[in-house]
Amino acid sequence: MSVSEIFDSLEYGPAPEDAAPAQAWLESHGRRFGHFIDGRFVDGRDHFESVNPARGEMLARIAQATPADVDVAVAAARRAFATWRATSGHDRARHLYAIARQVQKNSRLLAVLETLDNGKPIRESRDDDVPTLARHFYHHAGWAALFERELAGYEPIGVVGQIVPWNFPLLMLAWKIAPALAMGNTVVLKPAEQTSLTALLFAEICVTVGLPPGVVNVVTGEGAVGAAIVRHPGIDKIAFTGSTDVGREIRKATAGSGKRLSLELGGKSPYVVFEDADLDSAVEGLVDAIFYNQGQVCCAGSRLLVQESIADRFVEKLRTRMERIRVGDPLDKAVDMGAIVSPAQRARIDALVKQGASEGATVWQPSSRCPDGCFYPPTLLTDVAPASTVAQVEIFGPVLVTMTFRTPAEAVALANNTRYGLAATVWTETVGLALDCARKIQAGTVWVNCTNQFDAASGFGGYRESGFGREGGREGLYEYVKPSHVPALGAPPEADPTPAPVPSLRIDRTPKLFIGGKQVRPDQGYALTVAAADGAVAGEVGEGNRKDIRNAVEAARGASSWASSTPHLRAQILYYIAENLAARAPEFAGRLRQQTGRDGAAEVEATIQRLFRYAAWADKFDGAVHATPQKGVTLAAVEPIGVMGLLAPDEAPLLAFVSLVAPAIAMGNTAVVVPSERHPLSATDLYQVLETSDVPAGVVNIVTGRRDVLAPVLAAHEDVDAVWYFGTAAGAKTVETESAGNLKRTWTWTAAIDWHAADAEGPEFLREATQVKNIWLPAGE
Ligand code: NDP
Repeated sequence: MSVSEIFDSLEYGPAPEDAAPAQAWLESHGRRFGHFIDGRFVDGRDHFESVNPARGEMLARIAQATPADVDVAVAAARRAFATWRATSGHDRARHLYAIARQVQKNSRLLAVLETLDNGKPIRESRDDDVPTLARHFYHHAGWAALFERELAGYEPIGVVGQIVPWNFPLLMLAWKIAPALAMGNTVVLKPAEQTSLTALLFAEICVTVGLPPGVVNVVTGEGAVGAAIVRHPGIDKIAFTGSTDVGREIRKATAGSGKRLSLELGGKSPYVVFEDADLDSAVEGLVDAIFYNQGQVCCAGSRLLVQESIADRFVEKLRTRMERIRVGDPLDKAVDMGAIVSPAQRARIDALVKQGASEGATVWQPSSRCPDGCFYPPTLLTDVAPASTVAQVEIFGPVLVTMTFRTPAEAVALANNTRYGLAATVWTETVGLALDCARKIQAGTVWVNCTNQFDAASGFGGYRESGFGREGGREGLYEYVKPSHVPALGAPPEADPTPAPVPSLRIDRTPKLFIGGKQVRPDQGYALTVAAADGAVAGEVGEGNRKDIRNAVEAARGASSWASSTPHLRAQILYYIAENLAARAPEFAGRLRQQTGRDGAAEVEATIQRLFRYAAWADKFDGAVHATPQKGVTLAAVEPIGVMGLLAPDEAPLLAFVSLVAPAIAMGNTAVVVPSERHPLSATDLYQVLETSDVPAGVVNIVTGRRDVLAPVLAAHEDVDAVWYFGTAAGAKTVETESAGNLKRTWTWTAAIDWHAADAEGPEFLREATQVKNIWLPAGE
């Protein structure tokens, strides 16, 4: 082809990356890999093939771990934990820093191997995945160095099981391993069976830099290996990224085990374009949002919501741009989209597109040829109904569905019309509109006039069924530490705290339930007898049931404007509750003495102080501007979770009740509270205090009854966003199991707590009552 012809056609020539060094590395291992355990490679019994999806060629044979291999890896990690946790932050930092350096020195090998194994374009593995891998280790080397100072009062959790998917094998590894090691934990990592190779190359890097044996262990194999890690009794925490279905299984499998859990799951992220947006930039952003990594991205902007007035023009521009996307050999540096990870994933994408067509969507693909084999063209679906399968299900491929809206309110409603909440993008030149939408959209990350921005200094993670926990940023560190001191009294609560019925009742007043700001009769005509400390009858309370909980949840959801009330107002109301309680302190002290036989005055005074302090926190537990590389600001906003179910313990019936309710409502949540089953009268006496303290109807709802009957109802309720349970081990297990339905956050305590202790309030409670949303806002002319 002559130069003038090239100028005429502007055709790209081939620009292949040389795969020889990566192939040589595979050859140097005989194209056969074992597990990396205790600082060395150990061969496995059975092996399976890892295939280059772009060419269908076998790259290597990878060991399939058995439960016995997992045992050995966990034991190595446990041994290493004893010394790694005691290693100074500075020394841990030196190791992480050395890993980052070594990653940079091997950056091209890592990138090419990633592309061979996964099918993603070399441009992305070279420019995004590997630099971000290094950045995560540098950033967390810094956190290791600051550990003693910035995380005083916290300690590592222990041995962490980490399970990652195939879409970003190196990146997910970095997001998991870097913070875990920085905080002093040791890890057993399982890569996805399709893409284990770069994790094994990373293991070699760990050897090169002299990371102590057992600090990082890699076991390979199929999902069953992940399941063995999840069930393993020697593991203290599971960090998982993958599909929501497997996340749900893991939630159930870890229920009651005491293992900490963080889940980064699927998404169906909205990409909202308003009529005043810079449309060309928005198109460019959209191409990145949905076709990056062949759309196999958990936070892919897969639902285009475009304002009706510009919809036709915008979609036309998009089609023009899509015509220019180059699909082909991922090792070609001029290729935009590479191969789908596996034939099975390709078939799944295709089946969903066909289903979309059968449900009435119009399917459009560019006229340019898509290579045969494991490739899929960029695909646009229009005429999509909001409730259709393709609008609701995560397709995990280069498939965009399009819907229109008229008003900002409609845009937010459509954006939130999903069970997920991982990310969202908003394009508009009106900053007020952008930030208003960003706060109203339920998602862990919102990009304004940009998309797919990630950095180690900013947290990433989901709202709703996209999971819980954060990776990156200061907020991500708390996934890998626990408080060094817990205010435990030691003895677990008794298994059956049901009060024995006491004969010869003399009851003059039976409190009802407190729902929607009103005292209401329980649905069923049963009451529970409340025993006094001396064995006499202290009173009766209504026995709430499933229906009462449903009504209470409805009232709590109805009061959700509490979340947008000012923190100042929330503080004022908490002060007011404290004031009204103080005015009746002797009466409440007497009630506590009657029920528990202990000094009630001290508990009332402690409760008043606690209310004051949570009022103080209301406008102080706030967010941050993260120091990411983007020109602009990355705002880490602390937001309420939503409707919280709170199941109070029997110890300190007034103080514990307030210790749960106050942080929840101070942060803008609404609450359905089940007070102490044994001593509920301090909570029912509070009805009048709440009524006279300007607490808006529905913000606090109280349902008396049997804790372990009501707890599963709250845990299984699809409209409850978080549950705190303070009770028995069996009850905690039930709550965690039932929470898997909508993957609500849970916080369970099974040891009796000294509620008077200073540790029984403060940041731990506030963190459990909030979630961090990162809003990326670029700056410039
Ligand atoms: P999975 O969720 O099944 O896999 C993620 C990781 O979990 C892999 O390492 C997998 O192992 C492992 N795993 C599988 N089953 C279990 C189990 N029971 N217990 C513990 N670990 C387990 O995702 P898939 O790879 O199967 O992809 C299926 C769909 O999930 C995709 O089409 C996509 O829609 C979605 N997905 C979403 C991701 C996200 O980040 N949001 C990431 C990946 C997939 P192995 O691969 O060896 O089976």
